[in-house]
Amino acid sequence: MIDVGYPDADYAARIQRAREAMASHGVDALVVSVGRDMPYLLGYEAMPSERLTMAVVRPDDPPVLVVPVLEAPRVDTRGDVFTIDAWAETEDPVAIVAAHTGTARRVAVGSQTWATFLLALQQRVTAPIVDAAPLMRELRMVKDATELGLLRAAGAAVDRVAARLRDMTFSGRSERALAHDIAAMTVEEGHQLATFTIVAAGPNAASPHHEPGDRVVESGDTVVVDFGGRWHGYGSDTTRTFVVGEPDDEIVAAHAVLEEAQRRGVEAVRPGVAASSIDRITREVIEAAGHGDRFIHRTGHGIGLDGHEHPYLVEGDDTALEPGMTFSVEPGIYVPGRWGMRIEDIVAVTADGVESFNDSDRSLVVVA
Ligand code: ZN
Ligand code: ZN
Repeated sequence: MIDVGYPDADYAARIQRAREAMASHGVDALVVSVGRDMPYLLGYEAMPSERLTMAVVRPDDPPVLVVPVLEAPRVDTRGDVFTIDAWAETEDPVAIVAAHTGTARRVAVGSQTWATFLLALQQRVTAPIVDAAPLMRELRMVKDATELGLLRAAGAAVDRVAARLRDMTFSGRSERALAHDIAAMTVEEGHQLATFTIVAAGPNAASPHHEPGDRVVESGDTVVVDFGGRWHGYGSDTTRTFVVGEPDDEIVAAHAVLEEAQRRGVEAVRPGVAASSIDRITREVIEAAGHGDRFIHRTGHGIGLDGHEHPYLVEGDDTALEPGMTFSVEPGIYVPGRWGMRIEDIVAVTADGVESFNDSDRSLVVVA
């Protein structure tokens, strides 16, 4: 596990907001474990191992982090906003967690908690156990100033990588070798780690989540490059499409449609608009150009501590956009067996509109 350096945020304020959300959801114990709910609340991420790490938040007492005794030394209590209850190798950590839920009448458990711990907890706690996802989603969907600052910096860093890609030679190199270099640049530009790097060339570009392989890039290929990393815990995620040598008219025309779809989607972002309506706007542009059945995924996803989180820009997600929400706008056009293209920026909803955290050249870039 790489230390992503969670920031010095106002964790006390987040815990207070969590308590207010608990009250409104009728929950009086909140239990979080592996995944990003815990670092959101406490600035500490559980090691994903067979040894249990769980935090318990109650309405009154400070939150308690139940952690293996051998991992306690790596915990920073962030100015004592929470306490530590370290368990020894021979103790039953689930019993300790159950004791910390006390007399709770309804316990909410983080949705990424391992089944083995949840099943054991169900044996120990008599109160009903519910999914904490709706409550945590409410909290995490609207970013505070610290989070927005980190997402903005992460976006600027991948933009610097995107600018460097314009001068790179693509042809004659494998997707895997290119992906390796792009991941290294993502770290060079300041991320603690690169989390994913998609390089999809030629017919592979028609597969939106293509795993870079041995295919050697050749003249005439469109190459979709979609990459990102973690910046003090927060994600970056951007996509640009390159073409090796002078492109066909078909590719140029399709990319112009895609640019317009992406731009109109971003321009429509403002408070009060439904997430699904941004999807409809990008899709209408692509459909009008006759590529409707070639846009095979949602328009975007929220981003924060998780690379994909709420809200989702998809038909059926009618979340009203609020200032502080951050998500991708990433339409694509894919022709199986031939080519594909995608443009992706991360944007934030502001008080009266939108701020884009990515601003590298969105045009179809001709590379060598
Ligand atoms: Zn992406
Ligand atoms: Zn994305």
